[in-house]
Amino acid sequence: MTSNDEKLQKVGEAIDRLCAIEITGRGVVGDLYAAARARQEGPLCLSVAQKLIERVQPGDVVVIATGLPTYPWFSGEQDGPVGAGTLARALVLALAARPVIVTEAIHLEMCRAAVRGAGLYPRGIDEALRLPTTAAVVAFPTDWTEAGREADRLQERLRPKALIAIERPGANDHGHYHSAGGFRLTDHCAKVDVLFERARAQGIVTVGIGDGGNELGCAMIRETVHQAVPRGVRCQCPCGGSVVPAAVTDHLIVAAISNWGAYGVEAALALLLDRREILHSRDVDRRVHEWCAQAEANNDGPGLLDPGTDAVPVEIHGDMVELLGFMVASGIDFGRLYKEPRYPWLAV
Ligand SMILES: [Zn+2]
Repeated sequence: MTSNDEKLQKVGEAIDRLCAIEITGRGVVGDLYAAARARQEGPLCLSVAQKLIERVQPGDVVVIATGLPTYPWFSGEQDGPVGAGTLARALVLALAARPVIVTEAIHLEMCRAAVRGAGLYPRGIDEALRLPTTAAVVAFPTDWTEAGREADRLQERLRPKALIAIERPGANDHGHYHSAGGFRLTDHCAKVDVLFERARAQGIVTVGIGDGGNELGCAMIRETVHQAVPRGVRCQCPCGGSVVPAAVTDHLIVAAISNWGAYGVEAALALLLDRREILHSRDVDRRVHEWCAQAEANNDGPGLLDPGTDAVPVEIHGDMVELLGFMVASGIDFGRLYKEPRYPWLAV
């Protein structure tokens, strides 16, 4: 391993740690992160960014699945759609990818708002595949049979190179979807698990980003979720099962808030490609949150239509982006230190 590689690993480590700091004090993310890390090689966000750079060529589709119907409104939150919007922007800037956001019909409007806030045109598939700086936003069926047909159709049409789920519930062994608190969400959820399972079987890279154990990707750390998350092992709905989805992904990123996992991937892409602008700015972050809230995505926790996620207000998310941005910029500088010192008067 060269010095630059070691430095990259260290910055990647710092990105992971920052994204997994549990500022709301829920007390579960430390265990979930450690379990995810024990089962995968290298820092989580950096590994995913490396895989995306390896697999995604200009014009290739990356599917981003998001949307979590929150109890008791059964309408979405900003955790997920916001990260889907900002990650879509980063994938366009970094890789000239064609992002396709897949969600419930009830969450189309908030996902379109997030995409628009992130500076991309929200479009249907045909237009999005043809035009740059777009992201397709498409509804996926809540019915299992229709979902199977739609998965085949999308696979054929999109030929995606990667699938990423952000704060996306998945069906447990009894076929039921749950909130982190164990409430049943089954009837309201798009059955995108099918899309992930089929893609994975074909060798397409699949990534889950979660913060509570009930999201796609968390099957990798099932036992830890059962031990660490209240209601993790037994839901509050009549199925009496685990909140952990049955479907498995190749990668799992655990963050304190799922959007922060998406931010971490953006930061790692920026670091690897030596371009700070790939990670979105504080201004973009605020705009995405605000427009998403305006489209009735709530700040889950208080359940208010204020900009924010998991009871963390939008300013703090902006701070997170600033911190990550600084780490990326320093990381890039450190990387260059071996070629051309930033402060030549210190080089003796
Ligand atoms: Zn249940």
